[in-house]
Amino acid sequence: MLLLMAGCVTVAMANQSFVQIQHQTNQKVIVVGGGISGLYAAKLLMEKGYEVVILEASDRVGGRIRQLDGFADFQIELGAEFVHGQRSELRKMTLDNGLKLIEVDDSTEGLVYMHGSIRDDDDKVVIKASRQVQKLINRMSSVYDDPTKTVHQYLIESEASVRDHRLIQSEIGNDVGSDLRKIGVRDLIDNDDKWSAGNRDFLLADGSFKDILGPLETELGNRIRLNSPVVSIDYSLDKLVVATASGEKFTANKVVCTVPVAVLQRNLIAFVPTLPQNKLIAIESIKMDAGMKVIMKFDRKFWDDEVFSIVGKRYEYWVTGYRRSPQSNILTAFIMGSKAKSLSRSQRPIVKTVLKDLEATFEINLEGKLVDHYVQDWLQEPYIGGAYSYPSPGSERFRKILASPVDGKLFFAGEATHYEGHNATVHGAMETATRVVEEIIKSQ
Ligand SMILES: Cc1cc2nc3c(=O)[nH]c(=O)nc-3n(C[C@H](O)[C@H](O)[C@H](O)COP(=O)(O)OP(=O)(O)OC[C@H]3O[C@@H](n4cnc5c(N)ncnc54)[C@H](O)[C@@H]3O)c2cc1C
Repeated sequence: MLLLMAGCVTVAMANQSFVQIQHQTNQKVIVVGGGISGLYAAKLLMEKGYEVVILEASDRVGGRIRQLDGFADFQIELGAEFVHGQRSELRKMTLDNGLKLIEVDDSTEGLVYMHGSIRDDDDKVVIKASRQVQKLINRMSSVYDDPTKTVHQYLIESEASVRDHRLIQSEIGNDVGSDLRKIGVRDLIDNDDKWSAGNRDFLLADGSFKDILGPLETELGNRIRLNSPVVSIDYSLDKLVVATASGEKFTANKVVCTVPVAVLQRNLIAFVPTLPQNKLIAIESIKMDAGMKVIMKFDRKFWDDEVFSIVGKRYEYWVTGYRRSPQSNILTAFIMGSKAKSLSRSQRPIVKTVLKDLEATFEINLEGKLVDHYVQDWLQEPYIGGAYSYPSPGSERFRKILASPVDGKLFFAGEATHYEGHNATVHGAMETATRVVEEIIKSQ
């Protein structure tokens, strides 16, 4: 006979005496950070019978998943937008929540504007993953042996054209979240080799990522404490003590820290005792660059119908609402790395600089054509501090160290701790939650 009781598993032994096996439910876990990794870890822990509290610094959950409401007749994603890969827990969750997906075929839909046209000199449509660019990308493994080589250096040595640099910045640089000068070829390839989610990309056909966060938020209910920035985690004693900025203190048997690596780098959380040296080195070694989305609504669309992605003179753009709202007159500038950093620090209104690039790209005058806009600058988010972690030269081996638990009671999750190639993604962040829950169970 097996009786499942709240708080313990009771097993009837042969001699009819009952032995109570302490199960996890008398264990309390504090999850620091209410992004997707924190919420998902909390949900899994709750299902395993743990008592959980989620301390989230800001006034909302979701972290780098956020929507812009009321700007269009559909919701606009200010952070994560694509469901990457056909084999992921995120895709499954999306479909389980009744959401429909549109597959985006970058080889035919990533059309590129160069010099005001999507056609090149031979009147051929310029596709983002053009043959020459693909060749250059494929040949990158030839410099794999040099761990310090950046993608930019490789392109210079390959005598790639300015156009190829621009296309590869959008194809690879923006995708992984930094400049080609800062991305290590070896680390990039290593990550790519580990990627196991499949190569298909999807956009939501209706709803938004809010429809995935919403059910999680409801399930976790009052276990989520908003406006609770954690300022210290003391793991010196048997029970951990977590303090928030307002002076509140929480004790727990285990703590899961899911904050972005940029937050750890800024020392916004004091760990007592100081984290082990190898963990501190890992924190410094994993880089996270600036990133922003500039959403712009125009009085009319001035791009061709078939276009989804536009590689401008300086920035990359997406047609927002593409295939979902065919008449959409909204463009999103997707800007990563030093270009995002310099816009973020500029005195000039960001949208003015971006409009200038659009004018140069399309060779048109956009004065008075912008109806509305919104800038989401992730660098300026006090509890995020950038876009996502990227493969800088030599960085990838540090992810496993960043992820490793300390003293069997302090655990680390979040996108930057994914060491199997899925960092910088939503499904990757969810996978780190699954890993951390397994580690907690094993640590009993
Ligand atoms: C512009 C952009 C576009 C993206 N596009 C995609 C995409 O198309 N597809 C995709 O799969 N992924 C995409 N991503 C990446 C994806 O959004 C992230 O990998 C994922 O959401 C990270 O989740 P996380 O839980 O690890 O971290 P986060 O979402 O950053 O959550 C961490 C949480 O910790 C909180 N926090 C920080 N400090 C403290 C503290 N001291 N105390 C308490 N709480 C704290 C933060 O407020 C935050 O809520 C994109 C990201 C950006 C920025």
